[in-house]
Amino acid sequence: MSENSRLLALAKALRRGETSSEQLTREALARISQSKLNAFIDVLPERSIEQAKAPDQRLAAGDDHPLLGIPLAHKDIFVTRHWRSTAGSRMLANYVSPFDAAVVERLAQAGMVCVGKLNCDEFAMGSTNEHSYFGAVSNPWDHQRVPGGSSGASAAVVAAGMLEATTGTDTGGSIRQPAALCGVTGIKPSYGRVSRWGMIAFASSLDQAGPMARSAADCALLLQAMAGFDARDATCRDLPVENFSRGIGRALEHASESMPLRGLRIGLPTEWFADGLDAGQRRVIEAAIADLERLGAQSLSVSLPRTDLSIPAYYVIAPAEASSNLARFDGVRFGHRASEVSDLESLYERSRAEGFGAEVKRRIMVGTYVLSQGYYDAYYVQAQRLRRLIAQDFAQALSHCDLLLGPVTPTAAWLKGAMQDDPTQMYLADVYTLGASLAGLPGMSVPCGFVGEPGLPVGMQLVGADCSEALLLQVADLYQQATAHHRAMPAEASSC
Ligand code: GLN
Repeated sequence: MSENSRLLALAKALRRGETSSEQLTREALARISQSKLNAFIDVLPERSIEQAKAPDQRLAAGDDHPLLGIPLAHKDIFVTRHWRSTAGSRMLANYVSPFDAAVVERLAQAGMVCVGKLNCDEFAMGSTNEHSYFGAVSNPWDHQRVPGGSSGASAAVVAAGMLEATTGTDTGGSIRQPAALCGVTGIKPSYGRVSRWGMIAFASSLDQAGPMARSAADCALLLQAMAGFDARDATCRDLPVENFSRGIGRALEHASESMPLRGLRIGLPTEWFADGLDAGQRRVIEAAIADLERLGAQSLSVSLPRTDLSIPAYYVIAPAEASSNLARFDGVRFGHRASEVSDLESLYERSRAEGFGAEVKRRIMVGTYVLSQGYYDAYYVQAQRLRRLIAQDFAQALSHCDLLLGPVTPTAAWLKGAMQDDPTQMYLADVYTLGASLAGLPGMSVPCGFVGEPGLPVGMQLVGADCSEALLLQVADLYQQATAHHRAMPAEASSC
């Protein structure tokens, strides 16, 4: 097993009796209470400590699940029975779900202890984690900067050393992008790998849950516990549960110890390295490609000709689905209810006006517009056509290579407020992540260096064919065995 696995190190310490689940939980809660990142929306210390007792008993009985007894936190887009489930919105500020999301349920069955709910952009819409009713989250590498979004807090707490594992969701980049901007490892699985049951829906044909951790080895362990068929989600695929850790700590088949990536063909889409990519990001990613080549990989140019068009396609399809999904938050069926209203019409109007923030309203208006009778063919149908062509482009590019590599973001983490008045600027920053989402393919962000002074993390993106998570994780692990970028911590990590 990989020496990069912090989770396995904790598992070992638990089995040796050097610590207990309760002690790990108390320590995590103490770090959370001291943190200044604004990363948590709801923490229930007593409940978490109570929850830690069962894993301690299972450990004593010899249960050998590797995640048993380890604390984690969930993005507040997964519903939970005890903690509030807000989706970062005033609309659901006091909502407590009667059930746990499938992901929450599965990780609890594996014996992980939930220590709270993580801040995120409202209904997972955004790239900065500034669009939360509960306030912006800070990037632990520089508190003046954004951690990325929408799973910004999920990445920030791992980067800060508060937790070794969190969950996130990715609709158009929300696992990969914050992982890149905070310097942690994250994977968005193929669409349908992980159940969406109990995930508050943003754009149902794109939403997918995944883990964030320090290493690919740890992401593999977490994904193992999260993935699998669930009849309660009609889009969850009935795939055999494979062993995502099978390649961790191992050279590729037919490769050697010294050249563990020999035989691997890495496609570099020319459009991902065109104008618009910051020079510093480019330098770091090119150095990572050189490292991979030293390990035996071979790189070649491929093309994703419709990369630019992924932005308009996504920003039509995602808002269209969001406008439909968010219709249920009307103050009657779900969500905040305005007081002192005179009739039903104003109850709906005022509840939604008060409950939703600006970015969510913008998406609902765009979505309603593109689905309206006069514009449906011109926008929505065209975007669906584009989506199919983009998926074909990925299939074509991947027919020449084993995986695609490029940047996750055009620049490193930007200052808070920088894009607040210019949503289009924010949307453009998603240019490298949207394609894999539209095509339903697995994508990863792997820390690969730093830019500027004092140094902001850079992530490289790996995208593979449908269901190639195990390969992506293995390649990322082999890179992490040979490099140390994923181990770097922000200076103030000890104080979070
Ligand atoms: N930044 C993209 C958006 O704002 C992606 C969000 C996501 O993946 N949840 O829609």
